[in-house]
Amino acid sequence: MTVSGRTAMLAKHAGVPMADSTCSEGISPATFVARRRVLVLATGGITLTSALASRLGLGSPGDHAPAHRGVPAHHAVPAHHAVPAHRGGPAHRGGPAHRGGPADAGRSYPLDRPLYYINGTSKAIALTIDDGPDPVYTPQVLRLLRQYNVTATFSMIGIHVAAYPHLARAVAEAGHRIANHTWTHADLAGRPAHRVHSELARASHAIHAATGVDPGLFRAPYGAWSAAVIKQCEHMRMVPLDWSVDPRDWAQPGVRSIVRNIMADTGAGSIILEHDGGGNRSQTVAALRIVLPRLLHEGYHFETP
Ligand SMILES: [Zn+2]
Repeated sequence: MTVSGRTAMLAKHAGVPMADSTCSEGISPATFVARRRVLVLATGGITLTSALASRLGLGSPGDHAPAHRGVPAHHAVPAHHAVPAHRGGPAHRGGPAHRGGPADAGRSYPLDRPLYYINGTSKAIALTIDDGPDPVYTPQVLRLLRQYNVTATFSMIGIHVAAYPHLARAVAEAGHRIANHTWTHADLAGRPAHRVHSELARASHAIHAATGVDPGLFRAPYGAWSAAVIKQCEHMRMVPLDWSVDPRDWAQPGVRSIVRNIMADTGAGSIILEHDGGGNRSQTVAALRIVLPRLLHEGYHFETP
């Protein structure tokens, strides 16, 4: 999506109450675009414009170009460290500094920059499902994933995990990966380090309490990355997880729109963003029922980051 497209989309949906807000809502268009255009790296506080970030192969925050039109970032990272999620047993990746529990293991990705594409074959893609767990929609999504033998990543909000620990456990036990999505779905850009720490640590604690596993992935609400967020991800050994395909299912644009967007934009290494929490997600479930078999038919296979 172009920056201007995202701006228009955000302007259209400005003013949506926070209670129904999800990854891309509840933030002023100008602020959002500014954030997405500037990638702040924790190391040395280097600020890269999106153009420079593109040249460095970091992906271009905000433009989320379909993968098939560009070279997926991070494909240069060797995949020989790959460990199937939830199958290799507890794998310490240096151990989270805040706690000694087992971390879940995935491929080896840098901790100091957002991840927009996964490694793997040209047909490897990742499905991410945000803002749950939700008592209505998470079980529906789990049933679909089981039906099509698809493994996904669920970005969970800590307070929801604390409210529905059995759902978080069901997701983990089904072999899916769980990403930390903050304690309250807070917009962390511009927040001080202690607030960032609190939001991430409380969420990881809730996920650990429910599943016995420390998340090895962190997805920033609204895609709002900052130096403090990246630094906390490094500290807690979590890969900053962004996305490259956003069908805007949170805005309930219609099942056909969601399906069309996913099928048009998905390519090598795509990380697809969907939602099972934050509002009525019946369109998302209906769209998944259509796109999962279509993507599999096109030869794609789903992996976790
Ligand atoms: Zn979210």
